[in-house]
Amino acid sequence: MTLFDLKGKVAIVTGGNGGIGLGMARGLAKAGASVAVVGRNAEKSAKAVKELEALGAKALMVSADVSKKTEVLRMVGEVAARFGRIDILVNNAGTNIRKQPEEYTEEEWHTVLDTNLTSAFLCAQAVYPHMKKTGSGKILNNGSMMSIFGAPFTTPYASSKGGMVQMTKALATAWAKDNIQVNCFLPGWIDTELTQGARKQISTLHDAVLKRTPAGRWGHIDDFQGYAVFFSSTASDFITGTAIPVDGGYSVMGV
Ligand code: NDP
Repeated sequence: MTLFDLKGKVAIVTGGNGGIGLGMARGLAKAGASVAVVGRNAEKSAKAVKELEALGAKALMVSADVSKKTEVLRMVGEVAARFGRIDILVNNAGTNIRKQPEEYTEEEWHTVLDTNLTSAFLCAQAVYPHMKKTGSGKILNNGSMMSIFGAPFTTPYASSKGGMVQMTKALATAWAKDNIQVNCFLPGWIDTELTQGARKQISTLHDAVLKRTPAGRWGHIDDFQGYAVFFSSTASDFITGTAIPVDGGYSVMGV
């Protein structure tokens, strides 16, 4: 077994049917893991499963709204029933509603918080007994540049993503005794459906990101394959509670 080998491991990727989640699922599949793709859009999930199977992986789609506890419990039960174990959880599902703070309804606030943060907590709680039983586990939480910065149109989103970093630290300290490592990654600006919407809404965004990103480009979903493999493998066994940017240098640009 090599340092980055995931053969025999089982991963759940929420929002694994597209965008960054699919990029991570590709990496996990190539490293040998069986992958459960979780989302609400069954058509997108079926397509992702086909793609992962073509990479040689066992893959499963589970339709679930991860902001709802009953659906999370059913989803985790289905994955455990099919694959017999759960080793890796990627908490990636997310959404955004962009408005000035004074314009949000309470319902919109809860939609963003529940989809981005509560879902991650519910999924972590639900996989914990499985990881504890196996004696090891890896949880990868998706944060954002909005975990460390603010922007006028991101009040609930930035709150959820800041919370993701702190939840990562708390879980990491609680479950280190169970050999479960919990880490957060902070994507820079990545070309996905989510940010295609953002660029429509904010016309200056595309060029502003290019100008500030030292790598000189928007991120691609495949930029997340390596992070997924490293933080899911034994190579990262002594790393827990971190929040690491995957951003082409965006967050360290000083001028
Ligand atoms: P996408 O819109 O492509 O992906 C969002 C994913 O989340 C979809 O697969 C969607 O699946 C799933 N999802 C949303 N709500 C739910 C739900 N309630 N239950 C289950 N699945 C759900 O965008 P991205 O790939 O960009 O976003 C993925 C994550 O990356 C998000 O957490 C986002 O905040 C984060 N991120 C993205 C950045 C970027 O620049 N793109 C930057 C920083 C963070 P379905 O539609 O089938 O439900």
